[in-house]
Amino acid sequence: MVTSTSLKTTKSEEIFAAAQKLMPGGVNSPVRAFKSVGGQPIVFDRVKGAYAWDVDGNQYIDYIGTWGPAICGHAHPEVLQALHEVLEKGTSFGAPCYLENVLAEMVIDAVPSIEMVRFVNSGTEACMAVLRLMRAYTGRDKVIKFEGCYHGHADMFLVKAGSGVATLGLPDSPGVPKSTTANTLTAPFNDLEAVKALFAENPGEISGVILEPVVGNAGFIPPDAGFLEGLRELTHENGALLVFDEVMTGFRIAYGGAQQRFGVTPDLTTLGKIIGGGLPVGAYGGKQEIMSMVAPAGPMYQAGTLSGNPLAMTAGIKTLQLLQQPGNYERLDQITKRLTDGMLQVAQETGHVACGGQISGMFGFFFAEGPVHNYEDAKKSDLNKFARFHRGMLEHGVYLAPSQFEAGFMSLAHTEADIDRTLDAARAVMSNL
Ligand SMILES: *Cc1c(COP(=O)(O)O)cnc(C)c1O
Repeated sequence: MVTSTSLKTTKSEEIFAAAQKLMPGGVNSPVRAFKSVGGQPIVFDRVKGAYAWDVDGNQYIDYIGTWGPAICGHAHPEVLQALHEVLEKGTSFGAPCYLENVLAEMVIDAVPSIEMVRFVNSGTEACMAVLRLMRAYTGRDKVIKFEGCYHGHADMFLVKAGSGVATLGLPDSPGVPKSTTANTLTAPFNDLEAVKALFAENPGEISGVILEPVVGNAGFIPPDAGFLEGLRELTHENGALLVFDEVMTGFRIAYGGAQQRFGVTPDLTTLGKIIGGGLPVGAYGGKQEIMSMVAPAGPMYQAGTLSGNPLAMTAGIKTLQLLQQPGNYERLDQITKRLTDGMLQVAQETGHVACGGQISGMFGFFFAEGPVHNYEDAKKSDLNKFARFHRGMLEHGVYLAPSQFEAGFMSLAHTEADIDRTLDAARAVMSNL
């Protein structure tokens, strides 16, 4: 456990320096490069439970959990055991496999909107496919998304997107043709009037509304009371589809996701992260009538060489089985609340303006006057202060998301002692910010 303020990262530095010559920015996903917080990114060697160890031997309490999938704790022994067993039968079939039925049935049982599901390899793929399906089903080309919401890196969604796009301050990405994003309309999150206006300005042209029901890619932003219900009504009235991107919130803020938690059932849902248990999986699903449009049942084409492969299905099945044990979500909620309440109290005691919150094991806080309702509010956060806070926490052995515009993730492996240590670190760091 690192307790000093001078982190030794010699090996991380060497490996990352070499990586920068091999891969753009030294990484395979932008936020890992620590651009928005500065300083040396940490090269991981191994992970277990609530912890990560870097190549220099430093140990961290990990609040990213590989961006959500590690909800049962990293490298859970039962997940590893199941993977070992299935591995012996081969890694990919490219043919139907019984394990696909098992995971499909679990997802259909859990998620209220899903009557039929298609597995893909990432959240990006799931969102790309669901957009095609929205258009195919309604015969309309336009889609409404919200500022700061991230739906993967497909062209049509790189408009006012969150996550790495927000982190790097890219307005849009070069290489995305205007013709592609011309059909992407945006509104501020939690603003029903703005959505109403878009429907009024584009009569009969909008296929649907897609959103993160609880935003995690612009920092943590919960929906205001009535927002999700309002979207359900508006889409109904306009013959459009409501799509929840639950890649992050699915099986995280409740077993049945945000739709179960808030009692609002969308027409279609995307999933990812947790359903792969740490292996690459995404999924989209919804009403049977809509899903029947997907090939080969229907004409909307979508395919994948490695989709539904036995290893990914196995990690997902085992992870969901572990999550089904009673009391897990209550425990996640309780321990995460202790962390966020504690953080806000420390901030107050040390004289920093901060706000934040959590739902179950998903959390976030901003160095800003709260409450944060949308991305505009989130951007008022003191990013410089966050960067110094992030580095300080790292030096105290706490690994937080390296961006103010990302949520944090608790796992079932985190203990009360981990929370105590984290709050002690936060007090030490915030006292010197
Ligand atoms: C992570 C995420 C995605 C993208 O998933 P990838 O597996 O990274 O492609 C899409 N939507 C949301 C809400 C996400 O959190």
